[in-house]
Amino acid sequence: MRVVFHQTFHESDYSDDKYDNAADPGRLVGIMDALRGYEVQEPAPAARQDLLRGHSEVYVASVERKPVLFGMASLAAGAAILAGDLAMRGVPSFACVRPPGHHASRSSAWGHCTFGNVALALLRLRDAGLVRSAFVVDIDQHTGDGTIDLLRSWPEAHVFNTYGDNSAEYIRVLGDRLMQAPQVDILAVSAGFDTYIHDLGRKLTTDDYFTIGRLLQAYAIRLGHQRRFAVLEGGYYLPDLGRNVLSFCRGFE
Ligand SMILES: [Zn+2]
Repeated sequence: MRVVFHQTFHESDYSDDKYDNAADPGRLVGIMDALRGYEVQEPAPAARQDLLRGHSEVYVASVERKPVLFGMASLAAGAAILAGDLAMRGVPSFACVRPPGHHASRSSAWGHCTFGNVALALLRLRDAGLVRSAFVVDIDQHTGDGTIDLLRSWPEAHVFNTYGDNSAEYIRVLGDRLMQAPQVDILAVSAGFDTYIHDLGRKLTTDDYFTIGRLLQAYAIRLGHQRRFAVLEGGYYLPDLGRNVLSFCRGFE
């Protein structure tokens, strides 16, 4: 298990939106402290051509006009790309990034997202001829509409947003879907933690994230190749965010 992270992600000044809780100062400190036992690998920013695999020229240019945001968001996309590369080499990985990406569509974004990190990583692997199919599991409280949009024209890319009103239902729905999930070349996880009992979703416990990670790991093992990576999306209850991410990683590794 490898963690993909860059110190730049600790900076909060990339967002000028005071309601952007993904950009809260110190948000990733607790996560990286909890993950200190894992080897960390530094990403490089995504190349412009990698952004253009999912986003329009006009949209990328509009982000470029905000240089601090562009630098940070390109690095987040680059981290997801590195996580995908590691997965292809048989190393499960978790990219601890911001801004998140699952609400970033081809020509717009909302929900504190900028570039579609997970989808861009998969599109790059596809265009390089390394994978022909993929399964994205989004465990965030919110539907990853951007990921769905970016992968719309790739029929062999399947996206599942898990759901449920409570912990037991949420895990049962995910488990059932994974038992019937397709045979694919790689598993990607949009790992949001705002489903936490004290966060927006008010459902899951710290132990539930281990269970979810383990269900995803078991699916990757059933696939045979075990290729899997996860990328941070939401998660705003900072006192427990680190232990929840660690719990997920322990199940997923
Ligand atoms: Zn969310």
